[in-house]
Parts: sequence; C-alpha cells; structure tokens
Amino acid sequence: MDEAKKKFTDPGGPARPRHGGPEHSAVLRGSPMREPNLRSTGKIKTVAIIGGGPVASTLATLLARAGLRPAILYLPKRAPLLVGESLVPAIIPILRLLGVEEEVAGYSVFKPGATINLTPTFNLCFPFADLETKLPRYAYNSPRDKFDDTLLAAARRAGVQMVETAATLERVPGTDRVQLSRETLAAVAHIFPQPPDLIVDATGRARVLPKLLDLPSRRGPREDTALFAHVDSAKLDHAGHVHTTLLDHGWSWRIPLPGRTSVGMVIGSEHLPKFGATKEEQYDNLLTQDSVLRLVAGESKRITPVMEYKNYQLVSTRLVGDGWVLVGDTAGFIDPVFSSGLLIGMQGAVALAEAICQGSPRAFKAYERETIHHLEAWHELVEYFYGGRLFTSFQVGDAMLKTNFLIRLVFPHMRKHFGAIFTGGASNSNYSLAILRFTMRHGLRDEDPKTLMVR
Ligand SMILES: Cc1cc2nc3c(=O)[nH]c(=O)nc-3n(C[C@H](O)[C@H](O)[C@H](O)COP(=O)(O)OP(=O)(O)OC[C@H]3O[C@@H](n4cnc5c(N)ncnc54)[C@H](O)[C@@H]3O)c2cc1C
Repeated sequence: MDEAKKKFTDPGGPARPRHGGPEHSAVLRGSPMREPNLRSTGKIKTVAIIGGGPVASTLATLLARAGLRPAILYLPKRAPLLVGESLVPAIIPILRLLGVEEEVAGYSVFKPGATINLTPTFNLCFPFADLETKLPRYAYNSPRDKFDDTLLAAARRAGVQMVETAATLERVPGTDRVQLSRETLAAVAHIFPQPPDLIVDATGRARVLPKLLDLPSRRGPREDTALFAHVDSAKLDHAGHVHTTLLDHGWSWRIPLPGRTSVGMVIGSEHLPKFGATKEEQYDNLLTQDSVLRLVAGESKRITPVMEYKNYQLVSTRLVGDGWVLVGDTAGFIDPVFSSGLLIGMQGAVALAEAICQGSPRAFKAYERETIHHLEAWHELVEYFYGGRLFTSFQVGDAMLKTNFLIRLVFPHMRKHFGAIFTGGASNSNYSLAILRFTMRHGLRDEDPKTLMVR
C-alpha cells in the first residue's frame, strides 16, 4: 500500500449547522424529507411504551402530538456509559422534527464527516459537505446520557406521562398476546384505568417481550466483543470525524466528544484473553499493544470504567403481534461499524408512529416489512465491511478513475448513491442498494478482498 493519504472524495469546507430552513420538521423515511402522516384515525388511543431510550421518547413524542395518550414506563438507572454516540446525517431531520437539534448541538461535537484508517498510512476521508443530498451535510457526536435526557424531556413537554418502573409483562395463557403484569398495571393505573390499547416494547437489548414470547430471530455469524470507554484524548486525522480503524484483530472507533474521546474496540472474543483477565486490563493493554491503536491512542489516559458488549448481530423475524409491537434495538440490532443503530431505531419510531395513527393490521405489517428490510440492508453493508469487499472496491474504483472513461462517467452517480446509503439517506432504497450490490460483486477486478478484511 502506498504512502498516500487518500481522499476518496474531494475536500470541502465543513458544512455549518443550519437550524430551521425549508427542511425544518421534515423527516426522512423511505424517500428523503418526507413529512410523516400523523393524523390519527382514533382506532388506537392508549399506548404503553416500555423503555426510556431515544426510540421510546421519539415514538411517545409523536404519538402525544397526534393526540393519542402514550405513557413511557422506564428504568431511570443507567450504566455509567452508554454506547451510540456517533450520529449520521439522516438523524438530523428527526431531531428537527422533535424540536431538539439546537439543544443537542449545544453539548455535542459537530461532525463534518467520517474517516476510515485502513492501514496506519492509508486513509479514506468522507466529508459530508461533498455529498449530493437533500440531507443536512453534517451530524453530531453526542454524549449519550445527555442525548437520552434531551429526548425524554421533549416527550415530557409534548405531554407524555412518565412512570419510573421496571415494567414486567405476562403472556396471556394459550395465546401470543401479552399484558402488563399486575404490579406494572398498578403503577400506571392513574394513567390507564383500563389496560392500554397497545404495548410497545422499546427496551433495547433487554428485549423483554421477544424473550417472554420466545420470538424467532436471525443472528449474524460473528461472535465479537466490544470494549468501550472514554479517554482524555486520542489522535485524529480530521477534527470532528468519527474514525474507524482496522486493528491487528478487529477494528476500533474514535469518536470525539467535548473534552474527551470515546474509544471502542470490536474484536473477536477469542483474541481477548491474551490481553488480560479483566475487561479493564484487556482495554488498557489493547491501547498500548495493538500495533495500530498504539499509534493513535497509545498515550491516552482512560477516564471512565470499561463497558463490554457482546453479540450485536440480531434481527427479529416478527415485530408485530396481537396488541403488541417491537421498535428500536428490541426489534434488531446491528454491528456498530457504520453508526447506524440510532438511525434505524429512530426512523423505525417515526414509521411506527404513523402505523399506530392508522391503526390497521396493514399499516403494522408495512411497518414490520420496512423495518426488517432496513435492518437486513445494514447487515449486508456490515458484511461487505468485514469481508473487505467494501474498501477493496473503493480502492479499485479510485485507481480506475484515472484510466477508465466508463468509470469516470458513472462514478458521480455511484458516489451519490453510496454517500446516500452510508449517511442513512438511502439505506433502505432498493435502487441504491442494487448499485452497491452490483459493485461489490463485479467491481473488485482481480483484487483479493481478504487484504482488507477484518481479522
Ligand atoms: C458497541 C456498540 C456501539 C454503538 N455505537 C453506536 C453509534 O455510534 N451510533 C449509533 O447510532 N448507534 C450505536 N449503537 C447502537 C445504539 O446504541 C442503539 O441502537 C440505540 O441505543 C437503541 O436505542 P433504543 O431506544 O432502542 O434502546 P436503548 O437505548 O437501549 O434504550 C432501552 C431503554 O429501555 C430501558 N429498559 C430496559 N428494560 C426495561 C424494563 N423492563 N422496564 C422499563 N425500561 C426498561 C433501558 O433502561 C433503556 O433506557 C451502538 C451499539 C453498540 C452495542
């Protein structure tokens, strides 16, 4: 690999955040900037939403605005650190829809793009300013505890009732219907004198309802572990960018936050024991012993406990049942390499709010289909990343640009669609995905993708 520090796209000045403007209160779902239809037919009036994460809050806010009576049942106790700090541009319209972008911008780091370090000397830089898109050409890196509080507060302002409780559900014997347990019903009796019309499970990876009903799901092939903490600082090639770096084994993220950097490593679980017995030892040793990580974070000082996550490739094959529905991570979660989790969850919340307003089985089925399609699409992208196809094709395309007239002709079109996929603007568009799929199959020439695969 040569010494060049590559830019896949041309450099451009960072986009400035814009508040308001013509996109204000428009939200992306399916086609960019579509306004959600939140006119209620009145079929569903009361909704118990279990979980206090961003997905629960987004859904509850929209339902309250539509005139329904939603309540959030949530656990106030949190882990010392929460993952999900790097946002993609397609979330910005949802933040505007919720009326919280300015508040989020106030405590976040402005994110003008993403940088991928394939080797210590070979980088791909993706400034969002270069994107041909109707989306905002920026995003934010946000401390997740503050982000969650902002969205909960927005729900409260919209009139959503909040109940602090570890909600429990029961199966109605002989059916796949669920109901709030006697204790949970008692905790919400002041809001719902009668059982709610609908129960929404937004409990994230706790997956309360899928576990209760033993719902089928598809797991991905990888058995990785993510270790994650905040450090005082780490080296960055481009200010504000999320940096994704291939390591000796696995990959790492660096997400700049105010006054600190979030550094996470995602690594095959079998490699971890050689770095120590505890997660703290493993994390600290990886920072200094991995041949790539030590160059960018070898001097970093860890300032928080280490969090550990396992198994994050899972899609439920059923999201809707009699009187219940799943949304957010409960419905499915994705390897975090493209920072897509909050986008999928919050877009899912917008789609579900529309389905609940319509209240028909058909609307719920459409929500289920669309959400599973979105999850599966990101799983496919993740596989291209791990198998090395994604960046091999970028390298090949970059080299062929200089010599191949046809590639020069189609390149702008491909770049537009690839950019739209990875910023979330077209991650569920069949057309954009078909272009990417074609490139992954036929665009590698004779290059072996294993050179850039994640080991
Ligand atoms: C290692 C890793 C890195 C990631 N990085 C990113 C990233 O950079 N960008 C990104 O967009 N996404 C990222 N994600 C994904 C992101 O964190 C999730 O997609 C997102 O948090 C999902 O939101 P949610 O509201 O569905 O669930 P959560 O945020 O998990 O919220 C669930 C809530 O439910 C509550 N709860 C659980 N059980 C109960 C109960 N019985 N009663 C009441 N409340 C309950 C919990 O306390 C919690 O508040 C990452 C994920 C992992 C694992």
